[in-house]
Amino acid sequence: MNNKNIGKLVILGGGTAGWITAAMMAKSMAGTVAVTLVESDEIGTVGVGEATIPPIRNFNGALGFDEADFLRETKATIKLGIQFENWSRPGENYMHAFGSIGKNFPFCDFHHYWLRNRALGGNDCYWDFSLNYQAAKHNKFSHLTNIPNTKLPGLSYAYHFDAGLYAQYLRRYSESKGVERVEGKVFDVRCNHDSGYVEGLTLESGQVVEGDLFVDCSGFAGLLIGKAVCSEYEDWGQWLPCDRAIAVPSESTASIVPYTRSIARACGWQWQIPLQHRVGNGLVYSSSHCSDEQAREMLLRTLPGKPLAEPRVIPFRTGHRRNQWEKNVVSLGLASGFLEPLESTSIHLVQSGATRLVKCFPHRGIRTEEVTEFNRQSRLEMERIRDFIILHYKANQRRDSDFWRHCENMAIPESLRYKMELFRATGKVFRDYDDLFTEVAWQQVLIGQGVLPEDYHGIADGMSDTQLSDLLQSLKILIQGTVRQLPTHEAFLSSLLASG
Ligand code: FAD
Repeated sequence: MNNKNIGKLVILGGGTAGWITAAMMAKSMAGTVAVTLVESDEIGTVGVGEATIPPIRNFNGALGFDEADFLRETKATIKLGIQFENWSRPGENYMHAFGSIGKNFPFCDFHHYWLRNRALGGNDCYWDFSLNYQAAKHNKFSHLTNIPNTKLPGLSYAYHFDAGLYAQYLRRYSESKGVERVEGKVFDVRCNHDSGYVEGLTLESGQVVEGDLFVDCSGFAGLLIGKAVCSEYEDWGQWLPCDRAIAVPSESTASIVPYTRSIARACGWQWQIPLQHRVGNGLVYSSSHCSDEQAREMLLRTLPGKPLAEPRVIPFRTGHRRNQWEKNVVSLGLASGFLEPLESTSIHLVQSGATRLVKCFPHRGIRTEEVTEFNRQSRLEMERIRDFIILHYKANQRRDSDFWRHCENMAIPESLRYKMELFRATGKVFRDYDDLFTEVAWQQVLIGQGVLPEDYHGIADGMSDTQLSDLLQSLKILIQGTVRQLPTHEAFLSSLLASG
């Protein structure tokens, strides 16, 4: 396809995506490729994106970050899951808690035992068997290595952090590893007349930044992937009804809960993300069902504390680039697509995309096979997450507004329809190859939103009623006993900050 060796990599954009990519490249490709990052202080970043999912710990670990230092520097808190409020019906809550639930059996997931017990008349809540949920609801957290006498494997967790501070943290790391930063606004992109490959970025100052491979992290602008090499954008708006957000930080609340709150509203949903020094808030909504002014009023009326800035409207279009890699441009972050923030997946997608780029990195020139494989994996990953997010809108029993009635009637992808029907009829749900979300994640959202299966796996009948009851009771006692010994989330954070 192109035989030129890749000696110089240029990243356009210094938001979370740009600096994640720079850090990943600096760590993994040291000595083989020079990395330059171009960003414009004048344009700035999108400034949201503060809730994450557990794989971020692997990413931070791979870069060698010290957890305590990272938590201090980014004003982070612990996230044990997402509490979905009013999603199935107004007044009903459930949690997508990270980690496992109950006990791991080799052939039959725990929820089948819970379903059988329910069929026998038992009324235990599914989340009584989630260590993460119980810790979250009691506002507790610790690494379980500090707790004596527990047989439980530990809490699965992620972070909430200040997006701007995380980008700065990654920038310090990247620059210490040799990444060159160029400040300036790109006003022209120079492409080769014959191949269409990008050759250089011309800044307003007149400086030209040349490179062999370009990573477009320019946010929604998609300056290289969209405008220069013209990779088409596939719109998923027919399945994901929201197209705008309005965001504002507010003062800290008395208690810093270790989970994200996602509160369904008449025209979308609202997030609350607790950090050490403030709460991140926003409302994600459908412009067909709510004006910006109505959204602003609703957000300000329901803030947990005093607003710290003027609310900011952020329009978006859900979907993705058909080819996330086109010619010599790879797109990551918002430039490559956006699924909306309901399950906090965007930062993860940048991290997994940057890792994929390293794995597919061209050796002797860019080859079609590597580009095709990169695009195939990226598409599959996006589609699986897309289905999981659509599930929240489709599988619920709210009929109290035009927005929710629209969700009830909207078509869904065949892949999701199949999954929902299998679960409804049999209680079985399978994690597809490349699916970010585990079976337990799917089970929680399905059960939490009222999709209760008509049957359970026959293996669950292998226990007597008494054995089943003893199993469930002993699990509950084990989880409750462990949670009792945990310090509060605030105590965990305070001891950590004091140790710095
Ligand atoms: P940006 O932050 O927009 O950065 C773009 C960069 O490109 C900037 O540095 C800008 O200066 C530069 N740039 C653009 N044009 C030029 C130019 N002409 N010349 C020079 N530089 C230029 N993700 C999560 O994981 N969890 C969440 O909870 C979450 N919540 C979100 C809520 C909302 C409402 C939205 C919209 C997104 C959310 N995301 C979330 C996504 C997350 O914010 C992004 O994935 C992440 O911030 C990466 O953004 P980015 O770096 O791609 O873009």
